Amino acid sequence: MPPLTIAIIGAGPGGLLLARLLQRSSTPIAVAIFESDPSPTTRSQGGTLDLRPGGGLKAMREAGLWDEFCAHARWSGEALKVVDKKLVTWLSRSGGSQTEPREWGAAPEIDRRVLRDVLLGSVGEEVVRWGRKVASVEVEGEMGMGVVRFAEGGEEGGFDLVVGADGCWSRVRGAVSEVKPYYSGIGGFSFSISECERRAPEVLGDGSVNVSAWGLKGEAWMRESEYDVHDLEQAREGVKREYAGWAKELTNMLDAVDDDVAPRSLYMLPVDFSWEHKRGVTLLGDAAHVMTPFAGIGVNMAMQDAMELAHAIIDAAKEAEELAGKDVLDDKMRRYEKELFPRMHAAQEITDGATKDMYFTEGAPRTSIHRWCSRVAGHDMPPLLRPLFTAGLYTYFFFFKMFV
Ligand SMILES: Cc1cc2nc3c(=O)[nH]c(=O)nc-3n(C[C@H](O)[C@H](O)[C@H](O)COP(=O)(O)OP(=O)(O)OC[C@H]3O[C@@H](n4cnc5c(N)ncnc54)[C@H](O)[C@@H]3O)c2cc1C
Repeated sequence: MPPLTIAIIGAGPGGLLLARLLQRSSTPIAVAIFESDPSPTTRSQGGTLDLRPGGGLKAMREAGLWDEFCAHARWSGEALKVVDKKLVTWLSRSGGSQTEPREWGAAPEIDRRVLRDVLLGSVGEEVVRWGRKVASVEVEGEMGMGVVRFAEGGEEGGFDLVVGADGCWSRVRGAVSEVKPYYSGIGGFSFSISECERRAPEVLGDGSVNVSAWGLKGEAWMRESEYDVHDLEQAREGVKREYAGWAKELTNMLDAVDDDVAPRSLYMLPVDFSWEHKRGVTLLGDAAHVMTPFAGIGVNMAMQDAMELAHAIIDAAKEAEELAGKDVLDDKMRRYEKELFPRMHAAQEITDGATKDMYFTEGAPRTSIHRWCSRVAGHDMPPLLRPLFTAGLYTYFFFFKMFV
């Protein structure tokens, strides 16, 4: 049997991890990644990601990249404080140990760029075809071989499977569904404060601190804004006006921001999104279930998808050596998708609920902190403990609110 040939569209965390895991298979599997960025350095990767036990952390271990991850991870990044505009603290969580994750609730941070570099270094540069923007994917012939068509013209075919790991605006998704992401109602800015390493080197990755300001906005807010949202000075002043009346300790951060400004509108797929199985093509990560970032689980889902998909492809490759071949892969893909849908719907529901709790509930965080905590903190807790945890939280906040 010739090896299975897999085309992965997108060199984000999901696509790169999948390639890495497939490369580690004892049965040979041929992998190519097509990425629209012209090179690994063309676009600022920006921001940081927190990795969780069942998702990103498990994946880094399985990919044999645990030590590299630990060399760059910031366990102190697990610290979290929820405050309101008067700086009343509604929730405070300290950072974790610097060496090992906690059993439950671990969420060490890593810079997005560093995570990409670690994964990229592990698969080898030659696997990624940079500057290959995919326009569409088709499945041809009785055997359902995948053909990838490029925006600049030309195509490559003969793939046993094409995996859409191409994020929110996935072109591969078009091969299985016409559904498109819709505007979540939330937009805002990511800023950063440079050179923080002089003041707090132990908590920093690339030496900067990210500051984000998200709020309810109409879909056309960037176009209709009375200031240039891409201009740092104008954006800073615009956000300061928006947050006038908030505690100075919070708004003072805006005076310190000095690097890039990235205005963003957040889009999401419907919470019940799924697709009819189609031979020769599947999706993972944001391409399958893009959501707002307010539960911090998007990349963890992408990495878990990559793990599950890698197991399915590797099993198919092993069985195909003994059996007839392609149908084995198709059966495994059906099973991967059947298991993916309920898992991603649960994650989408948590994220959608968390977004509604904090952005669409009058009087938040006072009026919704108990629900938000139980949703976000409870989801990776052992199921038997969840009701007890929720009851404890509701009681705690009932009394807490009497004093603030
Ligand atoms: C502000 C913000 C903060 C976040 N914070 C967190 C967090 O703390 N924790 C967490 O778990 N998640 C977080 N997320 C979500 C997380 O970033 C995503 O879920 C994750 O990056 C998805 O990974 P992916 O590999 O599926 O897609 P992506 O990271 O989007 O990668 C897709 C890749 O495909 C390439 N591509 C796109 N179109 C094409 C094309 N047509 N042809 C070829 N290549 C293409 C892109 O260039 C990119 O390299 C955050 C998201 C945002 C917006």
